[in-house]
Amino acid sequence: MKIACIGTGFVGVVTSAVFAKLGHQVVGLDIDEAKIKSLSQGKVPFFEPDLEEILQETLASNNLSFTTSYQEAISQAEVVFIMVGTPSAPDGQADLKYVFAAAKDLAPYLQEKAIVVIKSTVPPGTNQKVAQIIQKLTSVQFTTASVPEFLKEGSAVHDTLHPDRVLIGATDPYTIEVLTKLHQPLTNKILVMKPESAQMAKYSANTYLAQRITFINQIANLCEKNGADVQEVIQGIGHDKRIGLHYWYPGLGYGGSCFPKDVKEIAAYSKSVGETDSLFIKIDELNENRIPRLMEKYNQLVGGFTGKTVAVLGLSFKPNTNDIREAPALKVIPWLIDHGAQVRATDPQAIEVARSHLPSQVTYFNDPYETAKTSHVLFHLIEWSDYSHLDFKRLAQLMHQPAYFIDTRNQYDPQLVQQHGFTYQGVGR
Ligand code: NAD
Repeated sequence: MKIACIGTGFVGVVTSAVFAKLGHQVVGLDIDEAKIKSLSQGKVPFFEPDLEEILQETLASNNLSFTTSYQEAISQAEVVFIMVGTPSAPDGQADLKYVFAAAKDLAPYLQEKAIVVIKSTVPPGTNQKVAQIIQKLTSVQFTTASVPEFLKEGSAVHDTLHPDRVLIGATDPYTIEVLTKLHQPLTNKILVMKPESAQMAKYSANTYLAQRITFINQIANLCEKNGADVQEVIQGIGHDKRIGLHYWYPGLGYGGSCFPKDVKEIAAYSKSVGETDSLFIKIDELNENRIPRLMEKYNQLVGGFTGKTVAVLGLSFKPNTNDIREAPALKVIPWLIDHGAQVRATDPQAIEVARSHLPSQVTYFNDPYETAKTSHVLFHLIEWSDYSHLDFKRLAQLMHQPAYFIDTRNQYDPQLVQQHGFTYQGVGR
């Protein structure tokens, strides 16, 4: 099958490479020339495990190519995926300007019977708007569909090769048949539904996961008032099969390229359709307040950050990615600097990306022990495996005394850390 992939960001590169690996002829298209140049040379412009290997393999097999030309990408394509960014607008609604621009630019080159698939996360009703834009600029027959993306950064290649499910939001029988055939090698859990249902399912999934994080943070707040340990509470509730032990992450709240914007978007969408009394608005508010609230608490714990040196481990928004969109470091570090601290920071992959987004006073190191040297406080922000077995005896020798270990990921046994003279502060314990 001939496929065009518009937008070669996280979702676009992975999707292009995976369909090319399945034997399809794929052209990836982006307006960012530097990105296209890099991808054409087999270099992924961000860190994602296993992606560069599959990119190079599919480029070498000639199944995959990249271009900035809409004519080149679209004129042969039977299926066109739109995978451009959909950031939140200032009022929280999804800003669809990139989706609409792509629709306008692809329309003149669309071939007869082409299927335009929206993979970007968009609110219900977007398919009709995209179809209207295209219709004005072409006389060919085409259809639209919604196939939302559920990959996770850090395991994106695996998630795309082995999705839990694929949702095909379409009503036209030919479109359903073609898209089912395209996705069948990846999974037998293909669910065909209305485009609106597929789009609601995408927002619902992300908002539900974000809500679990907010929920357990609320429970953690209460645990801190009464001496309970939220990790024990998680065990206590998780063995109930209706609840489960998975996906409980008490901490500084959710970040990343999707959850914050998707919760804001569903909150704004709720308002726009008259559902003003919405849980989603509250989830967003609680998450926005999470870091400022905890930073005040930590400030009290250490006797004020003014004049203190603080070491920060982890700058990406989660492990195994160098994506820093809505990463806790982007709020925590400026807060520390504003409150008079000197900040030393490290990350296995994200230092270069983070540097241009953080205050210039931050100093960077490649190693957690170098980072911790001379510090009063060590912040464990992201649970990279590099930080999963820290040597606290060594850290205690390198750091100022009394030393504080702020474990925002609840990764360490408090007693083990305290044994080495640290004051330990987890979340909800
Ligand atoms: P991204 O910002 O990494 O990439 C978007 C790409 O689109 C950029 O390379 C940009 O240059 C390109 N682009 C913008 N306008 C264009 C145009 N008119 N023509 C061609 N290219 C254009 O975004 P992403 O993280 O890949 O996300 C894409 C969509 O997928 C978003 O709607 C997002 O919500 C959704 N999504 C993302 C993830 C994720 O983990 N990143 C997971 C699921 C769904």
